[in-house]
Amino acid sequence: PTAPSVMTMNGHFAAVGEKPTIEQYEHGIQVIDEDKEFNPNLSTYLQVTKVAPAGFDYHLISVFGSQSTGKSTLLNHLFGTDFGVMSETERRQTTKGIWMSKNKKEAAEGSGAERMANNILVMDVEGTDGRERGEDQDFERKSALFALATSEVLIVNIWEHQVGLYQGANMGLLKTVFEVNLQLFLKDKQSNPRSLLFFVIRDHLGTTPLANLRNTLIQDLSKIWSTLSKPKGLESSRIEDYFDFAFAALPHKILQPDKFLIEVGKLGTRFRAGHRTSKPGLPLDEEFTGGVFLPEYHRRIPADGVSKYAEGVWDQIVNNKDLDLPTQQELLAQFRCDEISREVLVAFDEAILPLEEKQAEGVRLGKPAVLPDLGVIGKATRSKTIKAFETEASRYHKGVYTRKKVELEGKIDTRMKALYLGQLSAAHKAGVTDFSESVSGAVKNGQKKGGSYDFADIVEREKAVALKKFQKEAMGLAIEGVPWTNFKQQYGLYEKDLDEVSGRLRKEEMRRLATRVERWVRSRLGESVGLEFNKLGSGRGGSGAPEDGVKPATEKDLWDRIWKLFVTTVKEAETRFVERAKSFDASEEEIEVGLWRLRRKSWGVLKARIDEEVMEGNILLKLRENFEDKFRYDDDGVPRIWRPTDDIEGMYTKAKDSTLTLIPLLSRFRLAETYAPPELPEWIGLAPQSVDSKDEEDLTPIGGVDEEEGKSLEEEMTVLSEAKRQDLVVRFKKTADGVYVEAKRSAIGGVAQ
Ligand code: GDP
Ligand code: MG
Repeated sequence: PTAPSVMTMNGHFAAVGEKPTIEQYEHGIQVIDEDKEFNPNLSTYLQVTKVAPAGFDYHLISVFGSQSTGKSTLLNHLFGTDFGVMSETERRQTTKGIWMSKNKKEAAEGSGAERMANNILVMDVEGTDGRERGEDQDFERKSALFALATSEVLIVNIWEHQVGLYQGANMGLLKTVFEVNLQLFLKDKQSNPRSLLFFVIRDHLGTTPLANLRNTLIQDLSKIWSTLSKPKGLESSRIEDYFDFAFAALPHKILQPDKFLIEVGKLGTRFRAGHRTSKPGLPLDEEFTGGVFLPEYHRRIPADGVSKYAEGVWDQIVNNKDLDLPTQQELLAQFRCDEISREVLVAFDEAILPLEEKQAEGVRLGKPAVLPDLGVIGKATRSKTIKAFETEASRYHKGVYTRKKVELEGKIDTRMKALYLGQLSAAHKAGVTDFSESVSGAVKNGQKKGGSYDFADIVEREKAVALKKFQKEAMGLAIEGVPWTNFKQQYGLYEKDLDEVSGRLRKEEMRRLATRVERWVRSRLGESVGLEFNKLGSGRGGSGAPEDGVKPATEKDLWDRIWKLFVTTVKEAETRFVERAKSFDASEEEIEVGLWRLRRKSWGVLKARIDEEVMEGNILLKLRENFEDKFRYDDDGVPRIWRPTDDIEGMYTKAKDSTLTLIPLLSRFRLAETYAPPELPEWIGLAPQSVDSKDEEDLTPIGGVDEEEGKSLEEEMTVLSEAKRQDLVVRFKKTADGVYVEAKRSAIGGVAQ
């Protein structure tokens, strides 16, 4: 053994940036140094020795006893540790403070039933007696408290010749241990863990059997217990309420080295799991089946919390505070649960953060991304994260653990919920766009193929596709037993949006339909109105060549005929419109609005057509034709050959006057029967309530219909203004005069010939 190095190499490796290795800890770690400082590297030590992940599968034992009674030597032999021991020549204290080392023998030695327990952590506690009292007694008390709060088994190392020396130093130490124990468990009545006091009697000569030594020790212990001043409430407590006892004896190491080694070997095999087979409190060493580690001794501090727990306990002890183990355990649980929570969130972040960033980027660019396999990744990550937390944290204080788990789930779910809602929002947007495009595409396709497509069918089909896609995404995100992953509400909103879009698309479709129907009205009216005006040109009021079965048209009922054919045409158009609109599920209201628009637009078409007919050149030509017909043809429709004797002047005046009567007739759209304009406002009807005035900005106002226009129906029905009328009269007269002069000339000319 290399004592000097132990003095310096105390395990305080505060090396920066260097990964700690097991080699750095060959002598174990000085948990508490001579200045009563706790070593913050204990947690590192437990990690490099791979104890930290062991859960509850570890054991903590401490050794007590007078200074230089071979404690460190014993531990080194039992556990292959490398605690400093006093060299045989220099007799001074070697172990300072409290050292800890992991059993190095478990892996190498023993097998089957005799194999030592996993992960035995041994604490070598500084011996104190035989030196000056005072400060050291304080340390003794503190280290005893520390050992009791943490250790399952306390090895009490004692020379055989000290047994029965009731006043001896050992007994002082035990008294301290007992007092401290009572103090400790005053606060911790519910868990009340027991400890095993394992007496190892050294330099056993063999003359006094172990059983006798054991009895002597038990008597002494009872005596000590009875002399303790017990705290209130624990006056009647018995030693066996807190401790079990076990005994072993070892031969003299120097005098009987071979025997010593054999017995140490045997003793080592007792450090394994055991089960109680008899009542607590009785001398137990023969009663154990199996080893000394009874489950009830375990302090139930998970291995990864041992360093933090030990630190907390030591902090309380060193500051002379009342050591309250349940509180310590709760504090530890809070600390560790938070730590574990942070650890598992690192892994969670690794999986989720890139997705969150990708999503945020999509939103930033205005192109929300539907992340592939989000449900699968999310679900796996969530359960993995929570499972990892459960595995580690459930070993801690139940109440704290449960609370912290809820906290963690809250954190995870807040993130996941945002991510999932983002995903559905992206799916929503994409779905609505796809839907709109698919419907428009299908309509265009139908138009290309000759306009025979069923709009309602297209919408229904595309909506089903869109809903299915969204539903698949939403279902993919669902996690069983996690209520917030039910996205029915989002599905409902999505469907609502699709319906809104279909409504808009249907409206567009209605407009397209309206345009088609209007075009049809325009072409129909173009032809038929033209025909009616052409009849004016004949001047004979249809008497020339009336078609069979058709009532001869007269100039007087021109407007009646135009109104009638207009109404009939629009009626037909309305029927077409309704039929088609119904085929794509347009609502009554939409149809009502459509028809109303159609009537208004049709009126506009008619007016434009009439305006075209009465354009200066056109109407003048018609009047001239009308006049010529009357003037140049006789009643039988035979062209006149003018002779000088003919009353050209009289005929001219008659024909001219007759044609002139047409001008006022043409000037107003007036029905012959009523001598009033047709009932246009009634025919168009009131604007349906659902008309959105913004949508109808393209409609030209109609006098007498749109009151606010300040134009009367009379004005609306005025075809030729007063000025135009007078102008027309003047022009017509000139034209008629020309014809007359020509007739006159031809009459004279005819004579001259
Ligand atoms: P500790 O202070 O209790 O840890 O004692 P050490 O292990 O450092 O040993 C103190 C001295 O006792 C050393 O010189 C050892 O050689 C010696 N020693 C160790 N084991 C035994 C033993 O079983 N019997 C005797 N008589 N001496 C021992
Ligand atoms: Mg020692």
